[in-house]
Amino acid sequence: MSRGDMAKPLLGHGSTEGDPGVTPASGRTIGVLGSGDFARSLAIRLVCSGFKVVVGSRNPKRKASLFPSAAEVTFQAEAVKKTDIIFVAVFREHYSTLCDLADVLAGKILVDVSNNTEINHHKESNAEYLASLFPACTVVKGFNVVSAWTLQSGARDGNKQVLICSNNQEAKRTVAEIAQVMGFTPVDMGCMSSACEIENIPLRLLPAWKIPIFLALGLFLCFFTYNLIRQVIHPFIREQKNKLYKIPIEVVNTTLPCVSYVMLSLVYLPGVLAACSQLYYGTKYRRFPDWLDQWLQHRKQIGLLSFFCAALHAVYSLCLPMRRSHRYLLIETAVKQAVEKKMNIWVEEEVWRMEIYISVGIIALGLLSLLAITSLPSIANSLNWREFSFIQSSLGFIALVVSTLHTLTYGWSRAFDENQYKFYLPPTYTLTLLVPCTVIIAKVIFSLPCIRHRLLRIRRGWEKGRYVKFVLPSATGEYSSGETSSNV
Ligand code: NAP
Repeated sequence: MSRGDMAKPLLGHGSTEGDPGVTPASGRTIGVLGSGDFARSLAIRLVCSGFKVVVGSRNPKRKASLFPSAAEVTFQAEAVKKTDIIFVAVFREHYSTLCDLADVLAGKILVDVSNNTEINHHKESNAEYLASLFPACTVVKGFNVVSAWTLQSGARDGNKQVLICSNNQEAKRTVAEIAQVMGFTPVDMGCMSSACEIENIPLRLLPAWKIPIFLALGLFLCFFTYNLIRQVIHPFIREQKNKLYKIPIEVVNTTLPCVSYVMLSLVYLPGVLAACSQLYYGTKYRRFPDWLDQWLQHRKQIGLLSFFCAALHAVYSLCLPMRRSHRYLLIETAVKQAVEKKMNIWVEEEVWRMEIYISVGIIALGLLSLLAITSLPSIANSLNWREFSFIQSSLGFIALVVSTLHTLTYGWSRAFDENQYKFYLPPTYTLTLLVPCTVIIAKVIFSLPCIRHRLLRIRRGWEKGRYVKFVLPSATGEYSSGETSSNV
């Protein structure tokens, strides 16, 4: 962003005109203590949003050139005097060096933007520590979940939420207004005791992904071992053939689709279990067991990992003909056929199987890509509820059916060929079909009119054996009330 651009208000001056109860947030002077990365990005965004900015530095002369010309860079005490809202863009370790400013800071709002390097690093949160150093100030925790990069590039390109907490409602409202004018979405996290939780958020490593990742790794390990036994260990033991070369590509490439396919079915299985529970208990108001709740909450991540494995499977499959082993085997087969004087090697059934197998595979990958794209918050937010549920639920189920066709055309009649049972182990694809087919059959059963109707009623609030109050207009136009069983 050029310095000229920095001076222009990007987001207008708030929309508080005509609302007599609200002071326009933009146009205010905001103070920033510190001149580091965060302070600089914050100052730029504040200037772009129409605020006057005064930066407090220990060395204003040296740091002034780093800030937009519209921002005033001065000594800390000078800056603090000019405003009553100050962002403290300084690390916790240096808070105590600001104690000299306690008198000038008295009665003002301090916004603590700091983060820690470890989860629950200190006994008290940084914001509480700041409040203890400056008891005459009102401290608000906020903006720490936004990076300097997001501030610079604009709220549209990054996380839009700014979590805010404070013991003072008025101060919290003021900071929330500033966040809103800057293009962020303030989220009220309550009082100061939430500060610790807010400070831990940027440090958590993929909290929602742990279970799905372990699930994917577990499945990968199981299927990999199974395929290794069938494709490498069996030929070695039975025919003394060294097939170790198959491990990096072939075994991995037969494992990935198994994981992807089973994971996709695991996105829809908890919904089936939830529907069974609702049908059995005849209510939607009974809590699901914790494990099912957790499972339902992780469906998006499980689906994305399924897509990831499917995409890898597609790339691996495209690379199969590039391998030396493939070329050698191809030449070997050609030579054998030449020696045996076999001219016609065309097997019509195999040709059709392969054409259908690849075609449905491409369709399945396309549908999975659509599901993955629409699960991104920026895309999901642009869809209404019906569009989102159509894509995620109906198209997702179609993706599962198409993937099943892909698996079936891959397996074809192998399940009935006794040579395919290595060490009496059935072909891998037959195992992968178990869960997806259960889900598909259950979904088909739920779509039968009698069950579908009951499920729909339950989801609209109907409960088995529960008496509900009703109000009916009488002949005279007055209302009479009574009770009836919703079963009737
Ligand atoms: P930084 O680049 O190191 O800047 C820290 C600033 O603190 C310095 O430029 C310095 O400015 C000032 N300061 C005041 N007293 C100091 C002292 N005694 N010793 C050293 N510096 C002192 O750090 P930053 O990345 O901007 O981070 C600032 C705060 O924002 C931190 O609490 C951090 O956790 C938080 N934060 C940063 C990000 C990010 O993306 N960078 C994101 C979220 C939150 P003067 O020399 O001008 O006084």
